[in-house]
Amino acid sequence: MKITRITSHVLEYDLPETLGYSQQYYTKRSAHLVEVETNQGLTGWGECFGPGNIARANKGIVEGVIQPMVLGMDPMARDVIWHKVYNLMRDHGQKGMPMQALSGVDIALWDIAGKVTDQPIYKLLGGAHRTDVPVYGYGMMLRPEPVADLAARFIDEAAQIRDAGFTATKMKVGFGPKDDIRLAEAVRKGVGDDFRFMVDANHCYTTADAFTVGRALGDMDAYWFEEPVAPEDLNGYRELRERLNVNISGGEAEFGRWGWRAILENRGLDIAQPEVCALGGITEYQRVLALAHAHHTPVVNHVWGSAVAIATNLHLLAAMPPLPGGLHPWEPMLEFDTTHNAFRDKLLTKPLNIQQHVKNNNGRMPVPNGPGLGVDPDRSVIDHYKVA
Ligand code: CA
Repeated sequence: MKITRITSHVLEYDLPETLGYSQQYYTKRSAHLVEVETNQGLTGWGECFGPGNIARANKGIVEGVIQPMVLGMDPMARDVIWHKVYNLMRDHGQKGMPMQALSGVDIALWDIAGKVTDQPIYKLLGGAHRTDVPVYGYGMMLRPEPVADLAARFIDEAAQIRDAGFTATKMKVGFGPKDDIRLAEAVRKGVGDDFRFMVDANHCYTTADAFTVGRALGDMDAYWFEEPVAPEDLNGYRELRERLNVNISGGEAEFGRWGWRAILENRGLDIAQPEVCALGGITEYQRVLALAHAHHTPVVNHVWGSAVAIATNLHLLAAMPPLPGGLHPWEPMLEFDTTHNAFRDKLLTKPLNIQQHVKNNNGRMPVPNGPGLGVDPDRSVIDHYKVA
């Protein structure tokens, strides 16, 4: 079997409302799908992390840089392809967009491998340690409105997410310590005392401000404090982890085994959040997962994007070994964005219906069982939303 063509599909539409995180507000939803075709009629699907113009530029890397390197190669030789592409791109991008581009191609190769062998990806990875996965619903995105209004909105939104059946929830912060603590208190009030909530700063704080917010989150019994400081600040992560009474999480902005080795050896994370659609695809994710577990660091995947990215993560979460194991083991969770996302709800010929499963299945989502990713993107939906 040979790879005959690689095509990027950048999808985009206008969101019904402006949403934000600590770095920017945004008005569009986008997704970047990668399609790998073969001379035997089998097609694989993958996804690259990176919105908007990042996706448009990554399309250039996927089609213009990676495709010529791998045309004619056997798509089953995933690790050979991975290293050929990585080694040829090394001088131009060991992290960032080249790795995001490689990720989408690699995931599509795993989809093909599953279709060739008629097995779901989680079985190719060694089998299902769990056949369904707890789901946390994140919302409470920033909006361009006064903090008092946002706090009132967050109380209601947090209660809605809890009532929708999710096992936990997550909020954004980013207005500065005083306002952010007020918003976190609103979320705690909305969900009540016995419900797990997490706080995502998207690396907006100085270390001193992260201590201020982190101490308040510890008092509120928040479950984790995500990306409190810049991802480059490994020592800041370690100092926060040593002294705060809340789990420190992060890692979505790291790429590949070498970057992850530095993070893990520095002991700055209670919970690692690798992003499979950015760090190098499923092939590299497996190595990062092994590294994380070798450091006894639990993993909760970062998830962003379309139903293709979600399906990819469901397979990974199913195949993730328990750490350390037991009768009632610690479990990973599926990250689920509760805001408007047509590429999650409408992309597939047979939708995943995650919200319905969460509501009817005690907050858990079953893992797809079809060959490969087990999902089938609808061409007419792709054509409708395609902008590049
Ligand atoms: Ca995040």
